[in-house]
Amino acid sequence: MDTNDIFVGMTGNWISIEPLIATGAVDVFAMDMNCSPPSLEEYVSKYPTTFVSVSPLVNIRGVDKHIDYVPEKATAQAEQIVNLAIENFVKRKGKGVKIPNKVQSAIVGFSIESILSLLGGSLNPLLEAIKRGQLKGVVGLVSCTSIGNGPQDVPTITIAKELIKRDILILSMGCGNAALQVGGLCSTEACELAGPGLGSLCRALGIPPVLSFGTCTDTGRLSILVSEVAKALNVDIPDLPVAVTAPQYMEQKATIDAIFALAFGVLTHVSPTPPITGGARLMKLLTEDLKGITGGCLLLENDMVKAADAIEAHILAKRKALGIN
Ligand code: SF4
Repeated sequence: MDTNDIFVGMTGNWISIEPLIATGAVDVFAMDMNCSPPSLEEYVSKYPTTFVSVSPLVNIRGVDKHIDYVPEKATAQAEQIVNLAIENFVKRKGKGVKIPNKVQSAIVGFSIESILSLLGGSLNPLLEAIKRGQLKGVVGLVSCTSIGNGPQDVPTITIAKELIKRDILILSMGCGNAALQVGGLCSTEACELAGPGLGSLCRALGIPPVLSFGTCTDTGRLSILVSEVAKALNVDIPDLPVAVTAPQYMEQKATIDAIFALAFGVLTHVSPTPPITGGARLMKLLTEDLKGITGGCLLLENDMVKAADAIEAHILAKRKALGIN
């Protein structure tokens, strides 16, 4: 038995939790940290699923099972959860399920190590592709999903398509990453949607134009990769042709990621517009003065095509400054 026998895949991001439970095919829904909708109370009584919180921070009305994660007890706790699933399966067997039959393949699980191994052990092929313009630059897409600035995942998929079309490689994290997997952009077929440079590079390496890099808490790993690229090119991070986008941010974790990216020295696009526009001095700091402090800059743009235009212009300006336009 390998993981494919027991892991049938990922179904989407936090907004997809309710339709997932509504399939009637879920034995245990284990909730970690936040981003579990409070509305799940109604599902507890309606669907044949056992709900369990694995974090003391998750307290949803109607959910009385708590197995608060303790790292030293992880194996025993995982076993407890599997046993809950087995008990649940016995009860729900034969009740009927409604599972949509659309399946989308995706290549996931990229890491610094796997990217290096794909490139033959060194960053040089990536750096050379950037230098010759086959790849204009790289964008980290670290996003949630919401319905605050459009339907679920639509801004994320729109900006990702716009960026790859412009020969900009995407490393994706968070619920936005799930959106891009479901939307087909983490498959090699998506090379057809990429610009000629990025498309040919991805085809040569057998990778998609959007590299699925993990969850919203994996941002630190992305910064290590960016630091390595800066080191290899012998330039500072703000000089690199890179940017970050959070096209449908929502949670406090995403806010922290954006602040980190700004402190790291990177152009950081966020949408919807956060509640900061009333503070003239704060706006000036984030959108102008920060460039002279950390090198970072906040980009507020709710139109995803215009946001991609601005990110591309930033990347082209950085290339020009490096003498590689
Ligand atoms: S990406 Fe945003 S919504 Fe998704 S789990 Fe992270 S913080 Fe929550």
